Amino acid sequence: MIPEKLLISLEHIKNYDADAFKSIHEQNSPVSIRLNPNKNSHIYHSENKVGWCEYGYYLAQRPSFTLDPLFHAGCYYVQEASSMAIAQAFKQYIPNEPIKILDLCAAPGGKSTLAATYMPEGSILVSNEVIKSRVKILEENIIKWSDERVIITNNDPKDFEKLPQYFDVIIVDAPCSGSGLFRKDKNAINEWSESNVNICSGRQQRILDSAIKSLKPGGFIIYSTCSYSIEENETITDWMVDNYKLISKALVLEKKWGITAIETTQKNHGYRFWPHQVKGEGFYLSIFKKEDEELQKNYLKESPKWTVIKNKAFEKLTDFISLGDEFGYIKIKDEYIAVPYKDLTELGILADKLYIKKAGITLGKIMGKDFIPDHALAISRLLPLHVNKVELSLEMALDYLRKNNIYIPSEHTGWNVVTYKQIPLGWIKAMKDRTNNYYPKEWRILK
Ligand code: SAM
Repeated sequence: MIPEKLLISLEHIKNYDADAFKSIHEQNSPVSIRLNPNKNSHIYHSENKVGWCEYGYYLAQRPSFTLDPLFHAGCYYVQEASSMAIAQAFKQYIPNEPIKILDLCAAPGGKSTLAATYMPEGSILVSNEVIKSRVKILEENIIKWSDERVIITNNDPKDFEKLPQYFDVIIVDAPCSGSGLFRKDKNAINEWSESNVNICSGRQQRILDSAIKSLKPGGFIIYSTCSYSIEENETITDWMVDNYKLISKALVLEKKWGITAIETTQKNHGYRFWPHQVKGEGFYLSIFKKEDEELQKNYLKESPKWTVIKNKAFEKLTDFISLGDEFGYIKIKDEYIAVPYKDLTELGILADKLYIKKAGITLGKIMGKDFIPDHALAISRLLPLHVNKVELSLEMALDYLRKNNIYIPSEHTGWNVVTYKQIPLGWIKAMKDRTNNYYPKEWRILK
């Protein structure tokens, strides 16, 4: 039962249709995935595409993603379709040049993996989550997506005020009252209340205030919620334009997509996704450009805190990595990490102000005389071609992902990468009569 107070509050909003809205909530949610263009995702083919995002596909029914090895390999992200519309903000507004992007409310990683796909070459993405317990799932999804340009941080939005005018693009996919997900998540219905809508609205303003300070003049902010409430959507859009040097921007949309373009009270642009009109869940999106003005700070003058390692220990890694000058190597605690060389300066600037949870691609660590390669390396594009690969059947791949003790014959003793449909799943260490399974314990499938 959708709360009556919510239904009443929606009555005068453009394209709201009470009967259609209620009856769509009695149907199942559409199932959609977004492909990872870096992982041979052509394996998935369907005519049923998400109109506003070329990597998005609808599936006829919900498969068991857990039992699909390619899900664990990061070939696709399971994401409801409306959220993929952030792609249009990127395609229509983001300049094709190296930029710095912040995804401020990032866990579990839907918008970050999307931003990584659409961000121009040479860019960096800071994927931030304030709630510590949610950083784990963000980290898992980002590692599986395998993009060396993503930096994960665990900071409060306020901390980003220490980086004034730093980012070119900021995504604020704000915590909200969640009414847009009622169809998918019945618990959200019980948690909904008018007072929570107001609490969320205040929180959204506080998050945005920090975000806007950290946005470069001329930069873009993408704001979204999965709420239907005006207080969290149109009101916030108007509040942003009224209180900051922001200009509301319009998107060009195809009519057949069914997205509702809204004009707010102050004549700003917003986009509503009604589930009775789009094939997706409830969603709201608005885009803003910060007015141009002189930059107050030159970050490049600040010296980076991270130095590239070139010591003897590093020589042990060379069997595993044959990367060009494009990468610099750093060591954090006992792990060796590859980061695009040009990002090291930015990493230094960021590390000075934020808590960095992960950057680049973790290559591995040295234990005694041995180099233990990291899972992230096995599934990334940095995996050297000469590493031996062993193709697994579906049954064996699932056994591997369950971290079972399995014997996988290989002609090459030592480190091998196991694959399924030629896509790397992770490391094994092959011995004559036994195999060590190096799939990360915390990610093993329990089904
Ligand atoms: N962008 C994510 C995605 O696409 O997968 C979903 C983000 S979810 C709508 C909002 C996120 O904001 C949650 O991960 C939540 O933990 C985080 N959050 C909660 N309170 C917050 C706060 N006060 N400041 C910043 N983020 C907060």
